[in-house]
Amino acid sequence: MPASPAAKPLLLDQSPDDWQLGAAPAYRRRQLTDWIFRRRAESFSLMTSLPAAFRQQLAADYELAPLQHVRTQGSRDTTRKFLFRLSCGDFIESVLIPANPALYGERADRFTLCVSAQVGCAYGCKFCASGLAGWKKNLSPGELIAQIMQVEKLSGATVNNLVFMGMGEPLANYRNLLAAIEVINADWGLRLGARRITVSTSGIVPQIRALADQPRQLRLAISLHGADNATRNRLMPVNRKYPLEQLFDACAYYQERKKQMLTFEFILIRGVNDSERQAALLAAHARRLNAKINLIPYNQVEGLPWERPADRDIKNFVATVKAAGVAATVRLEKGRDIDAACGQLRLRELS
Ligand code: SAH
Ligand code: SF4
Repeated sequence: MPASPAAKPLLLDQSPDDWQLGAAPAYRRRQLTDWIFRRRAESFSLMTSLPAAFRQQLAADYELAPLQHVRTQGSRDTTRKFLFRLSCGDFIESVLIPANPALYGERADRFTLCVSAQVGCAYGCKFCASGLAGWKKNLSPGELIAQIMQVEKLSGATVNNLVFMGMGEPLANYRNLLAAIEVINADWGLRLGARRITVSTSGIVPQIRALADQPRQLRLAISLHGADNATRNRLMPVNRKYPLEQLFDACAYYQERKKQMLTFEFILIRGVNDSERQAALLAAHARRLNAKINLIPYNQVEGLPWERPADRDIKNFVATVKAAGVAATVRLEKGRDIDAACGQLRLRELS
């Protein structure tokens, strides 16, 4: 479905200071943010404290809801995957994951939302479903923010943790990402603290440095997946552009600026990166860079040759890492049955 040439701008794509509100008095901006982010009105006509003519003008000038809910898979208390249609016709997915008190010490009523940053992905990691058909588009700030608001509305949950680990590479959509985070963070917006927001990247070095230089204390997760260049090259083409030495320098820089722990994500793939040598190398990198490790047994992707290691090998890997004194968790595979693992989102509607 092509985008309509007469498409109106999306209100959530602009910062409230940039909203064109004609001759409206200044306090209207505050009333609008209240209606949108506190009361969650989904159409201008519902904003009954605003004059009718002003509401009509807004509706003529702006679009308010950019995502059309298509379907939900999974049920309450399990991982749920939400499929949305963008106004341009493309599809995206967001995944709501209930808290895991055992793993993260979170309260049981907490939820993590995994959002998509792009339609498709240009980085072509060899194991990943999201990049199979290449990159299609960057999500706009409003499309990023609306994923949270829509999932909260559809599920009744309050999102306490946000991870940019869905489809796409968030740091390749840097400007929109930060514009969205400003709203997600703001007192007048979604009020989610920067420390509750994790940006996951395949290792785009200049953008990691840029993220270190911006003021928010965002959490950074690096998708490592190989503890030496040869192994990483085999899985992630981005490593040829930004090899491990450069990536680790950027990690150290992030740490120096933010004074917080990094996370290394490491998918375990049978016979590729699951050896004891990889475990020992990975642990050494993590110690040096003050990172904790999130191990993810590979989720099989249809049509790709990779497999998850045997349980015994996963256990050995974890034991080697832990014996080196590094904090490591194995990500439980909630949502495996609905292909909802973060980073495993694929546009089935289109295939
Ligand atoms: N582009 C970013 C964020 C999206 S991917 C990045 O690469 O970090 C989020 C995470 O899911 C990454 O660590 C990614 O490597 C992982 N992932 C991708 N495909 C997977 C699969 N089939 N099984 C398990 N994890 C996968
Ligand atoms: Fe893109 Fe991340 Fe998938 Fe790599 S793992 S192809 S960077 S979404």
